[in-house]
Amino acid sequence: MLQKTSHYMRQANLIGGEWVQADSGATINVTNPATTLLIGTVPKSGQSETRRAIEAAEAAFHGWKKTSAFERSKLLRKLHDSIMDNQDALAELLTMEQGKSLAEAKGEVGLSAAYVLWFAEEARRTYGDVVPSPWVDRRILVTKEPVGVVAAVTPWNFPSAMLSRKIAPALAAGCTAVIKPASQTPYSGLAWGALCEEAGFPKGVVNIVTGSAAEIGDELCSNPLVRKLTFTGSTEVGKILMAKCAGTVKKVSMELGGNAPFIVFDDADLDRAVEGAMIAKYRNSGQTCVCANRFFVQAGIYAAFVEKLAVASEKLKVGPGLEAGTQQGPLIDENAVKKVEQFVRDATSKGAKVVSGGKRHPLGGTFFQPTVIAAATPDMMFMKEEIFGPVAPVFKFDTEEEAVRLANETEFGLAAYFYSSNLGRAVRVMEGLKYGMVAVNEGLMTTVEAPFGGVKESGLGREGGHQGIEDYLDTKYVCLGGLGI
Ligand code: NAP
Repeated sequence: MLQKTSHYMRQANLIGGEWVQADSGATINVTNPATTLLIGTVPKSGQSETRRAIEAAEAAFHGWKKTSAFERSKLLRKLHDSIMDNQDALAELLTMEQGKSLAEAKGEVGLSAAYVLWFAEEARRTYGDVVPSPWVDRRILVTKEPVGVVAAVTPWNFPSAMLSRKIAPALAAGCTAVIKPASQTPYSGLAWGALCEEAGFPKGVVNIVTGSAAEIGDELCSNPLVRKLTFTGSTEVGKILMAKCAGTVKKVSMELGGNAPFIVFDDADLDRAVEGAMIAKYRNSGQTCVCANRFFVQAGIYAAFVEKLAVASEKLKVGPGLEAGTQQGPLIDENAVKKVEQFVRDATSKGAKVVSGGKRHPLGGTFFQPTVIAAATPDMMFMKEEIFGPVAPVFKFDTEEEAVRLANETEFGLAAYFYSSNLGRAVRVMEGLKYGMVAVNEGLMTTVEAPFGGVKESGLGREGGHQGIEDYLDTKYVCLGGLGI
C-alpha cells in the first residue's frame, strides 16, 4: 500500500497542470502527529504563485464553463471511482498527516467520494425558470451560470471531506478552482490534484497552492478574477476573510466554528443517548466542528448518564491511528493539548469534578485521555469556547426552558443534539434551538443528501444537499424581446 500512498503524496503546487515548487524554493515541514516525525515537505508559496494559479484557473474557466453538464457529470463519476479505488492509500496518507484512526480516515475518504458522486448527479439539475411574462411579445428566462474562479481554503481536521464539499459542487457547476489546504495536512488536499488529473479534468481547472496562509489568503481575497471564496475553518479567520472579500464583493461561503449542545431529557433512552454522546464527542478525538461541546443532562438521570459516559469513554482505545484497533488518535499539535488542559484546569478551579481522564495520555506526545467532567457550570470556559478535544463537560438542568435557553446562549449556531422520547417536546425543542442542524435521538447526522451549515457566527451557506451547488451559480435574468409575435 505504501507505494500507492506515495503516488498520491505530492510535494508540489499544481498550477495550470504543472507540479511546481515555490518561486523561492522554500518549503514547509509536514509531520506525523502520532510520532512527531517528518513525513515530507510542501512548497511555502505566497502571492506570486497564488496569482499564477488564479490566472490559470481563469484561463481554464472559459473552456470548462462551455462543457455540457453531462460531460462534467461523467468526469466527476470517474473521479469518484478513482477515489474509491484508492480509498486505502488515501486513508493511510490522511492518518499519517492528521492522526485520526485508519477506520475514521477510510470513512472520511468514502464520504469525500460520496460528495463527488452526489454533485455528479446534481450537475445535471441546475434548473432555471421560464416565468409567465407580463408582455405578450417578450419572454422571461432565468438561467444559472457558474460564478467563475472559486477559491477554497480548508482546515486540518477533515482535510479530504471539507475539500470535497467545495470542489465537487464547484466543478459540477462549471467553475474552476484554486485550493489552499491547511499547512498541517496538505497531502490529502494535494492528492486531489493527482486524482483530478487521472480522471481527465483539463489542465488549470483544479489548482492547488500550499504555503503562507496570510499571503495566499490576501491574494485569493483581493484578486478580482476570483468570484467566490469558500472557507472552512475558525470563526476568527472566517471574519478576516469575509472583510477582505468585501473589497471585490465576492460571494462567500463560511463553514465556521461550533459550540454544540447535547441535551438529554429525563424521558430519553439513556443507553441510546450515551451511544450517541460517544460519537458526537470523541470522533476525531473531539476535533470536529459538530462535536458536542456542552452536555446538558436533566437532573433525574444526571448521575446515571455521567457514570455510563465515563465507563464508555474509559473503554476507548487510544493509540497511533495506523495501529489496528485504535479508536482515538493524538491531537493535532502541542497547542491543542495545552488548550484542552486549560479547559480542564479552568473547570476544576471553579468546582467541576473530573470523573474520568483529565490528563495527557501515558502514550505521551499529543495523546490525551478521553475525559468526562461533572458539575460543569455556565461560568466555565467551555460554555463559550470550542474545546476541540476529547473532553465532555456535563451540566445539570431542571426544566426544558432552561435547557433550550442554555443551549442557545452562544454566538455559535452550527449543530445541536437532543434526546427525548416525548414527541411534543421533540417538536418544541427542535423549533426552539437556534442552530443550522439539529439531530434528534442521533449522535451523527452528516450525509451528502442533507444541507450542512450553520447560523449566527457559525457561518453562511450550505454544503451538500441540493442547496450545496447554489453558491457556485449566478442567477441570470434574460428578457427575450423583439420576437415579432
Ligand atoms: P483555521 O486556523 O481558521 O484555518 C483554516 C484554514 O485557513 C487553513 O488552511 C489555514 O491555513 C487558513 N488560514 C489561517 N489564517 C489565514 C489567513 N489569515 N488568511 C487565509 N487563510 C488563513 O482553522 P483550523 O484550526 O484549521 O480548523 C479548525 C476550525 O475549523 C474550528 O473552529 C472548526 O470548528 C472549524 N471547522 C468548521 C467546519 C464547518 O463545516 N463549519 C468544519 C470543520 C472545521 P494554515 O493551515 O496555513 O494556517
